[in-house]
Amino acid sequence: MLRVAKEVISQDIQELKESLQLADKFLNEKLNQQGKAEEVLHAIVIKSLELINDEVSVRDIYFYYADIYAAVWGEGDTDKASRTVRKYLDDISNDKLSANSELNNFLVSENCQPLFLTVDASTGGKRTQFYLITCRQVDESTNEQSNNSIEYVATKLPKPYWWVKPLMEIKVTVWRVFCVVAIGVLLSWMGVYSLSKVFSGSVSTAMAIITFSIAAIAGYLMMRLSELSTKGLTQIPSFMVPLKQANSLFTLARDTVNEKQNLKILAVTYEAKCPLCGDKIIIEKSREFHGRYVGKCAIAPSEHVYTFDHVVKKGRFLRG
Ligand SMILES: [Zn+2]
Repeated sequence: MLRVAKEVISQDIQELKESLQLADKFLNEKLNQQGKAEEVLHAIVIKSLELINDEVSVRDIYFYYADIYAAVWGEGDTDKASRTVRKYLDDISNDKLSANSELNNFLVSENCQPLFLTVDASTGGKRTQFYLITCRQVDESTNEQSNNSIEYVATKLPKPYWWVKPLMEIKVTVWRVFCVVAIGVLLSWMGVYSLSKVFSGSVSTAMAIITFSIAAIAGYLMMRLSELSTKGLTQIPSFMVPLKQANSLFTLARDTVNEKQNLKILAVTYEAKCPLCGDKIIIEKSREFHGRYVGKCAIAPSEHVYTFDHVVKKGRFLRG
């Protein structure tokens, strides 16, 4: 079957990342008894994780024979690289990553999705590409959606400015919630205190402007946090990610890998295609739907409107 690589968006990046992290841990533990096939697999796992952490879109996470050959054996000539890596890839898909393999059984036992290796053979001048996925690639014909429902895929971690990077995945602990509330209370107390000073005229104009600015930023962040806690999601403020990056949201999620099932805040970028016309979907808060986040078609935003659910990642048509 001829398929153009990475056209179908069906891979959830968060799901893939969790499986890869666990696979990396699994392979690290048996580092001393790794065969060559496992070493190749480990190289693919590590390189995929590097790309995800570099905020590369899931569509662009794939490798050529030469990439992996270089990672395991060092630079070498192309033909030799292809022959060698191809041999091990067969072993990986048929054995190391078969449905009943040790690694995949381990992933499933830890509540993660199993990993599969997909190889797209070279066609028309395009070199062979391969990549790891957690979903079995679905044939496009069976993947057809009805016009009434839409599927969202988390395809990419948002590319934030460097100083926001630590905020892209936050575990919610009692201690942290306490700190945020404490800082909020402190700031509002300071705000009221400074305002009273401003109004009594005992501070300079510059000081008054600074006070208002800090109060405005703190208030804005508190609004975002309260939206996150009441709706489970909120837009990533535009000063944290470049403007052109649409559909970047902070969402609440349950940590499935960890036994305690902690709550966490994840920053993810969603993508979806409008089931009616195929154009891209923009997720935004809608006044019409009382502040709910909905998915609107880029070219028919008032007619092609769908619900957006960040947990089941599905939606349904809201008109008609
Ligand atoms: Zn549309």
